[in-house]
Amino acid sequence: MSTSHAIRHIRITPIAFRDPPLLNAAGIHEPWALRSIIEIETASGLVGINESYGDQPMLDALAKAAPALVGLSPWALNAMEQRVAALVAPPAQTASEFLGQQVSLAPGTHVSKTVAKVISAFEVAMLDLQGQLAQAPVVDLLGGAARDSVPFSAYLFYKYAEHIDQPYAPDAWGEALTPAQLVAQARRMIAQYGFQSIKLKGGALPPDQEAAGILALAQAFPGMPLRIDPNANWTVQTSLKVVRQLRGVLEYYEDPAPGLEGMAAVARAMEREGDVPLATNMVVTDFAEFRRNVDLGCPVKIVLSDHHYWGGLRATQRLATLCKTFDLGLSMHSNSHLGISLVAMTHLCASVPQLTYACDTHYPWQDEEVVEGGRLQFEQGSLRVPTTAGLGVTLDREALARLHDNYLHCGIRNRDDLGQMRKYDPGFTGRQPRF
Ligand SMILES: [Mg+2]
Repeated sequence: MSTSHAIRHIRITPIAFRDPPLLNAAGIHEPWALRSIIEIETASGLVGINESYGDQPMLDALAKAAPALVGLSPWALNAMEQRVAALVAPPAQTASEFLGQQVSLAPGTHVSKTVAKVISAFEVAMLDLQGQLAQAPVVDLLGGAARDSVPFSAYLFYKYAEHIDQPYAPDAWGEALTPAQLVAQARRMIAQYGFQSIKLKGGALPPDQEAAGILALAQAFPGMPLRIDPNANWTVQTSLKVVRQLRGVLEYYEDPAPGLEGMAAVARAMEREGDVPLATNMVVTDFAEFRRNVDLGCPVKIVLSDHHYWGGLRATQRLATLCKTFDLGLSMHSNSHLGISLVAMTHLCASVPQLTYACDTHYPWQDEEVVEGGRLQFEQGSLRVPTTAGLGVTLDREALARLHDNYLHCGIRNRDDLGQMRKYDPGFTGRQPRF
């Protein structure tokens, strides 16, 4: 075996895993969620791993950027960033120019995020290599653990009992369309994982029904922090009507209305009436948008970051510093994901002292895994920060092959919640804000 730790080879493996019929502002989840598994191998035979988006444009960008890494030291993160930025052409539009044109559930899918997403995909795998070389956990490379474990929230969804094109046995969660079913979903998730705060994905049912859902949760779980996230599917007027119905109940109010201007209008009206802070993963999704929020006097008080599109673990630490500077709260957004993303998030969040809220995770909605040892275990709603070298997880090769086979056969290459919803309701327009 060579003693050189220079990067020799990069493997990108698209995977697909089962995903329940979860409702949201855009429509409904398809039966399969896509991710990519990144492996970076050194001449000495070490392999650093990561997990990222698995849609076709991201796979194309990763393939285009991969040659930039060959010959680099795993320690050369700045050089990697420069090479990736040079190879992956910057988009014609900035993220800010997208505002008003489209409202996306998944800011990570904006083309404006391509460079940041690819950098993040490679950075985490290189940090995994660095950790193996230094025999230190990734959190130590980020400054050391400010906490031993990282809290996550119970992420509730309205959902159907099964997919319209159900290609496998229906999930065990059943239907959730009424307040009673929502409370039952929360009880089950909290019993299983021990979460100590609750988030409801809204924007799917009429707002009065969703407000009734939150009020039922407040009654069932007294004192539990509660959040609702309609993904900008409500007008400013509807946003204000709902927050009045939920007075005294919400921990924060996530992306009720579209655009930073819509959020600012909601914030101005709420200032006169109460003090529920606004949170976002839709209107502050990069550093330029962070600045716009500051220029408007910070209508958004809590930034839900996501290292997958903010440019990596170190970029998210820089965001944390900015949040502290402007007295903003910080937490983490999630998409459907498996254990590598979850553990990367855990190292990152452990390294950020002022992480003020339990993080989002879709993890309970997945029942497959790609890491050795299978599903990661929560303790009282938190994940313990790994203390072994690197990320602290390794690939289960058989599982990777199985999930790649899912990808080859599932027929999905780009996430399409709107198209999926039209199978149930051909007249569904996807117009936002809908309510
Ligand atoms: Mg959100």
